[in-house]
Amino acid sequence: ERGRLARLRHKPAITLDGQRVELLANIEMPEDTVGAVKAGAVGVGLFRSEFLFMGRESTTRQTRLPDEEEQYQAYKRAVEGMQGMPVTIRTIDVGADKPLDSKSANKQEHLNPALGLRAIRWSLADPAMFLTQLRAILRAAAHGEIHLLIPMLAHASEIRQTLSLIDFARTELDNRGAVHGPVKLGAMIEIPAAALTLRIFLKHFDFLSIGTNDLIQYTLAIDRADESVAHLYDPAHPAVLRLVADTIAECRRQGKGVAVCGEMAGDVAFTRLLLGLGLRSFSMHPSRILAVKQEVLRADTSKLEAWAKSVLESDDPAAVMAG
Ligand code: PEP
Ligand code: MG
Repeated sequence: ERGRLARLRHKPAITLDGQRVELLANIEMPEDTVGAVKAGAVGVGLFRSEFLFMGRESTTRQTRLPDEEEQYQAYKRAVEGMQGMPVTIRTIDVGADKPLDSKSANKQEHLNPALGLRAIRWSLADPAMFLTQLRAILRAAAHGEIHLLIPMLAHASEIRQTLSLIDFARTELDNRGAVHGPVKLGAMIEIPAAALTLRIFLKHFDFLSIGTNDLIQYTLAIDRADESVAHLYDPAHPAVLRLVADTIAECRRQGKGVAVCGEMAGDVAFTRLLLGLGLRSFSMHPSRILAVKQEVLRADTSKLEAWAKSVLESDDPAAVMAG
């Protein structure tokens, strides 16, 4: 099976009815681009940049966080590693299940960390840190195609603040004569409120990326890190599928890019459903790419559309999917 899959590495991911599908890699460090290229990824759909910030134990915040130059070098390495293919860099998503260090991991002061200061909320609460990251990413964009992805947005005011900080980072770079490049701007759809207000997001962003890991957590009120309720963490819950389907459909209607970058994208049990819902861009751990590609090569989207609709309308989508 391994050997057979390996032969698919250089084969383009095209369905039986000729639909081109983009299989992208999720990475945590610039060095992961080696494995991504090897697996046949056509780009990075999610660079979880917080891994550059995590586990750097120190007493002062200044020495703990990577500075602009260190980040710039890391993002540039990722871009170079992908050899001209696009790299989607998500701005820092710390807090909740991704503590910055063991000290904050042990802090008990936040009763509901998943509902607290994490991701874009963290960045907007510390604009100096956020601007440092934005400048580093914009500078790296001079070396290749970068898509800038913002996690955990829910409010129009957060979108406005984020966009104005991106503009400000560009101005800062211009003022000091630093070279920077253009970026496509994307938002993660991982809070139900965002999936229910797509109009606002599509007004401001070039593309959306659905983070099903958090979308499931927040839709079902199931802590993704709590084993005692793990049996209720259900990607096939009709409410989750409805939000995913609507997001894909609305992006397609408006001609905007849309990807899924949560675990669902790398789970072959969902490949046919996502194709049937119109998804053409999947981002996943590199180890999942060949298996998903095999599903894509066997799929006929013209037949999957009606079936996907019946899955969506069912009270028991998992049963319909199982056939
Ligand atoms: C997600 O929430 O689906 C996602 C891709 O982001 P993370 O798992 O890093 O929260
Ligand atoms: Mg997430």
